[in-house]
Amino acid sequence: MTPFFQKKVDRRSRSAMVDFLQGHYRYNTMSSWNRLTSYANNTKIHRLGLSSEQDDKAYEMLNVDFWEEIRGPIDDFTHDQSHRHTICSNGRSGGYLVLHESHLKLTGHLSYCPTCGQRNFKKVPPVTYQDVNKEVIAREILRSQNSWLPGVYLGQPAIQALTISDDKKLLLINRLKAELKDCSASDACGVCGNPRSNFSVPPSRLMVASRSIDQCEDFDAEDWSMESLRDRVELVCAFDAVCDAIRSNFIALLVDYDVVEITEHRPVQVKKLVAHAA
Ligand SMILES: [Zn+2]
Repeated sequence: MTPFFQKKVDRRSRSAMVDFLQGHYRYNTMSSWNRLTSYANNTKIHRLGLSSEQDDKAYEMLNVDFWEEIRGPIDDFTHDQSHRHTICSNGRSGGYLVLHESHLKLTGHLSYCPTCGQRNFKKVPPVTYQDVNKEVIAREILRSQNSWLPGVYLGQPAIQALTISDDKKLLLINRLKAELKDCSASDACGVCGNPRSNFSVPPSRLMVASRSIDQCEDFDAEDWSMESLRDRVELVCAFDAVCDAIRSNFIALLVDYDVVEITEHRPVQVKKLVAHAA
């Protein structure tokens, strides 16, 4: 892959690094009236250094949705950055790639339905218990949505009928109330009724910040050590490398694919008269 946006930066030279960071192209992180900017690259077609043949084809592709085909390097970058930075497109028809701060946020879902895909904020309750005492108490707690005080559970007929002492019952009630805190009464999916499963890794979502990055930053200030400058240069160079990878993916599309017009036939609902069956 030939570097197009990437630049060589001398990481031993403070002034070379500062020049690189201060001279880097920037674009808005939101709309222009927010005046917040970050490191960016102009990826409009006429700025991609294409051959005239590729250029013609690129304009033909303007109405084709190919972004998903070429955006893969952004996911790798975001992952490599431990989700603390990501890249978004901005500008009319996404003509700019912009570096953003980001972070992962848990969605709060604890289980999901393998049948219909519905997610649930509660866990699936345990299927088996060590003994009948635990099972009876757990069932009472789940049935009442864990909403009573321990003493109230002690008074329930099913729990009163258990042969262990009240002290032991209270111990179990307190322990199970804590264990079943996030569980729903049953494992049934609220939409389709099929059994749900707990997530082994709770799902999260990437939150993208629209804050500016290094806007009007004084890199000569003392808190910018050589090491922190190097880290910043590393980040911006990695961003440029992703822009190059996306440009290469785009050029590969131009080389490997043609735009053709296809008429798609889709089912349409119409009303018709049908004679009674004899
Ligand atoms: Zn379901």
